[in-house]
Amino acid sequence: MSTSQVVTRFAPSPTGFMHVGGVRTALYAWAFARKNNGTFILRIEDTDKKREVAGSIEHIIASLHWLGIQWDEGVDIGGKNGPYKQSDRLASYSKYAHILIEKGYAYPDPYSEEELAEFRRQAEEQKRPFLYREHRPTVFGEWDGTKSLRFKIPELKNHIWNDAVRGELTAGIDALDDFILIKSDGYPTYNFAHIIDDLEMGVTHIMRADEFIASTPKFLSLYEALEITPPVLVTLPPILGEGGNKKLGKRDGAKDILEYRNEGYLPEAMVNFLSLLGWNPGGEKEIMTKEEICQLFSLDRIHKGGAMFNEEKLLWMNKEHIRLQPKELQLSFVKKYLQTYDDAIVERLLPTIIDRISTYGDIVTIEPAEFRFFIERPIVSVENLKWKNSDLQDALTHLQSVLDIIQSADFSAMDSIKQAIMTYAESHGKGNVLWPLRMALSGQEKSVDPFTICYVLGRDESSMRIQNACTSIRSISSTQ
Ligand code: GLU
Repeated sequence: MSTSQVVTRFAPSPTGFMHVGGVRTALYAWAFARKNNGTFILRIEDTDKKREVAGSIEHIIASLHWLGIQWDEGVDIGGKNGPYKQSDRLASYSKYAHILIEKGYAYPDPYSEEELAEFRRQAEEQKRPFLYREHRPTVFGEWDGTKSLRFKIPELKNHIWNDAVRGELTAGIDALDDFILIKSDGYPTYNFAHIIDDLEMGVTHIMRADEFIASTPKFLSLYEALEITPPVLVTLPPILGEGGNKKLGKRDGAKDILEYRNEGYLPEAMVNFLSLLGWNPGGEKEIMTKEEICQLFSLDRIHKGGAMFNEEKLLWMNKEHIRLQPKELQLSFVKKYLQTYDDAIVERLLPTIIDRISTYGDIVTIEPAEFRFFIERPIVSVENLKWKNSDLQDALTHLQSVLDIIQSADFSAMDSIKQAIMTYAESHGKGNVLWPLRMALSGQEKSVDPFTICYVLGRDESSMRIQNACTSIRSISSTQ
């Protein structure tokens, strides 16, 4: 492995669904690898069997596929440094465990659960932190795999290290303790396994959340004991809930990322939004494609401080990305939500729909009130056809005139219909003409403009609705 090649990894534990925090970590690791023509790995950290949730790996893969984040090596596709699931890598951990034993840096834990509990109790009583190393045996026994294997911290010192985002970091010696490398169930701990995996997979940069800073002195001790150069550590800023409250709540993004897909968000928007949640490319440009993000991505523009999850901004970005989609793609999304609509209607209605939504899921909410009349003839109450101080006779006159105009108008474009009707409306008072027309066509007090409605409905259906309105007015007038 050439040392200059960038290798990053996303290493989730299969403990449930993917949320925005996990996705952002994956995204940054991926973007950085792409930017540097490097390798991006998907590794599954499944050594805590108690916390495992069935179906998580499939869910992680489906989420990343949806977002278009592709890996070069990984649990499902293999690669030259596989396997990529920790439970399949026990031989590697055992190998390095024995190297540490030989160097005198690992020993089997001689204590029973009860004894450890007693040490903890004593520490608590004395109001001191419990440090295992204070009970480290003077003579190490043989490790037969039935006891947990502990790491002997080689040197108690104040570690100072450089984080690519946070700069110089440090932690006191209490951050160092003889932690477990391999548990009595034979599985390694995260603290040990990820270091071996990163080593064997040639990982050059670790992107992860700030909760790992506290354990970094332990990791550094292990790197030292194994005489390996640590990868570059890149701590990502925490994601804060709306209003800056510490934890991200379910409403503001701690939810399953695939729920966003189901709500009609575009993966391009989600990637764009998350890319800016803790990083900025410099300059004013906010709407970016994945390719642009990868091109611009750099570690020195990752923020130190918390990044606020702003749902409004996500909606705005989604709307912008919907607008950027080619028409054919917009149509295929819209059709999924308007399955009972004629294709021809949907095609003509498309710009109106795109204008009114922020997510495709919005269609479900606004369809009954805003679009249904396109496919179901409205019941129009005659009184509503009257514009302000004008009367029904007026409405009838104008509707009949518009009916004539419509017969000869060019229906191939909305603008030509508009022009034809507007010329008449401007000389007879816009409200007088357009109000009854829109009401006749839609039955709604508020709707899109009548020209768009005519265009979408087509000549025949528009004429039919106008005629129906005229008939209603006549039947009322004849009974009065
Ligand atoms: N398995 C860890 C987690 O799910 C990953 C931490 C890391 O990237 O090293 O949080």
